[in-house]
Amino acid sequence: MQIAIDGPASAGKSTIAKLIAKRLKFVYCDTGAMYRTVTLLAKNHQIDYGDVSSIVKLMDEHEIKFINKDDGQVVLLDGHNVSEEIRSEAVTNNVSQVSAIKEVREKLVELQRQLANDTDIVMDGRDIGTTVLPNAEVKIFLIASVEVRAQRRYKENVERGIETSLKTLEQEIAARDYKDSHREISPLQKADDAIEVDTSDMTIEEVVAKVLEIVQANK
Ligand code: C5P
Repeated sequence: MQIAIDGPASAGKSTIAKLIAKRLKFVYCDTGAMYRTVTLLAKNHQIDYGDVSSIVKLMDEHEIKFINKDDGQVVLLDGHNVSEEIRSEAVTNNVSQVSAIKEVREKLVELQRQLANDTDIVMDGRDIGTTVLPNAEVKIFLIASVEVRAQRRYKENVERGIETSLKTLEQEIAARDYKDSHREISPLQKADDAIEVDTSDMTIEEVVAKVLEIVQANK
């Protein structure tokens, strides 16, 4: 069974997808982490985020691995755990430029499809229901207002000891949504057959219950 969870930045996709995967004992795949890792690779090598041939070369030269652990997915870049580093502001604010590159998407989509080939999976991203797994049995499109998403990100940052203004977070989230929705290849878009869930006024438990209900109905 394939469960696709798409939606804009900070709508709670990975939190929900992780919990659903745990509950159903499915593999969880965070595709955003893949685009983030390629962005980190470009950053570490001081490659311009628009330099397509150098970024593709870097992807060929370095090993990116995803390991599933009980509490989520661990990303290894050349054997080093970069799961934290890929969440940095520098990566977050540049990932949309890297993820718009056709060659990067082709390589990562192939990897994502391979992962989904022989296992039950919950995959979250922007184009899972439309492009990566168009035949997924369950497609969810998670949304929340920009204000609510910025609040959630703000709380997360405070817990991690990072100081950012709420206004800046709102602007960054809105800018990322705009870029992800307006790129040429596989833009962020609700699949025609996806079920939209607005999480603005819902708790995590309520969203999990709602998604499980949708999964049950589609089994
Ligand atoms: O989900 P997350 O916020 O970690 O994704 C980071 C970025 O990766 C997104 O803003 C988007 O540019 C890109 N992405 C994508 N397609 C996906 C998942 C993520 O383009 N399936």
